[in-house]
Amino acid sequence: EKAHQPPMSPSHRGALGWDATGAPTPMHKRLDGKVAIVTGGARGIGEAIVRLFVKHGAKVVIADIDEAAGEALAASLGPHSVAFVRCDVSVEEDVERAVDRAVSRHGRLDVFCNNAGILGRQTRAAKSILSFDAAEFDRVLRVNALGTALGLKHAGRAMVPRRQGSIVSVASVAGVLGGLGPHAYTASKHAIVGLTKNAACELGAHGVRVNCVSPFGVATPMLINAWRQGHDADAADDADAGIGLDGAAAVPSDREVEKMEEVVRGLATLKGSTLRPRDIAEAVLFLASDDSRYVSGHNLVVDGGVTTSRNMIGL
Ligand code: NAD
Repeated sequence: EKAHQPPMSPSHRGALGWDATGAPTPMHKRLDGKVAIVTGGARGIGEAIVRLFVKHGAKVVIADIDEAAGEALAASLGPHSVAFVRCDVSVEEDVERAVDRAVSRHGRLDVFCNNAGILGRQTRAAKSILSFDAAEFDRVLRVNALGTALGLKHAGRAMVPRRQGSIVSVASVAGVLGGLGPHAYTASKHAIVGLTKNAACELGAHGVRVNCVSPFGVATPMLINAWRQGHDADAADDADAGIGLDGAAAVPSDREVEKMEEVVRGLATLKGSTLRPRDIAEAVLFLASDDSRYVSGHNLVVDGGVTTSRNMIGL
């Protein structure tokens, strides 16, 4: 019987355990000694991924356009574990530089998380397929879809020669069903699911796994800013200006986070729980670590069952 068991990965050995701070004990660090890049890691879901990766023993490079937030997070987690590199994922040289920086600093790249993403403007005009702005559509696709493809390209380039690695992209429930987000965002998230499947086919031959995670609503600056803008939709339409959705300006208050979580709980299929950034980070950790060593081309939906529901919701 024993002879048929696969060899245990380090993360399977030993008893489960956490220390007094809630950090995993050494025997349970699921990314011990691994090197990871997290795009959009300066805030929101990306920040939760960075924090969890560090708790699990990874060396992390945050690749983000928000220098102030990214540098501050890196400094707070310690220069030994975390570095920040300014990177716009829609600019190929930036993505290439981030990968090269991680490899030159740590000698390897084990995990690449394509998390950076934008929702796009939320004015009524911008939201309709009958009046959307082509330049704005292009902007969203460039960050979300092209940015992910560039991450796959340059992470793959670093991982293929070592014949190992895990690439995890953050898609969305809007990459599974229609009616859950703006058109450009929905198109871009479907593109991420498609890229995940296609890249898994090619990179699997080189021992590299490719997966994605699709969250339902999480009360991050992205969602809260969109909600604020939705409330101001008429004014924004009039002014044809809108609130800067993707900038670092609007840091949500605790009250706004609570309010947004209440809204999402109301829309959710699964009752009694609140989806938090840490829940998405745990799903990404599973796909990044050897715990998922035979999982590739998969879209791990973290939505409490929303996309299986017959009763479509509208955000
Ligand atoms: P957020 O806006 O709170 O954080 C996004 C981070 O990405 C920021 O640090 C921002 O500076 C960075 N970023 C934006 N554009 C970038 C670029 N061009 N290059 C590099 N970094 C860039 O958003 P979030 O809610 O944490 O979203 C993270 C990911 O999760 C996104 O891909 C988003 O589409 C996805 N997602 C979010 C939700 C949700 O409800 N919050 C649901 C489903 C999917």
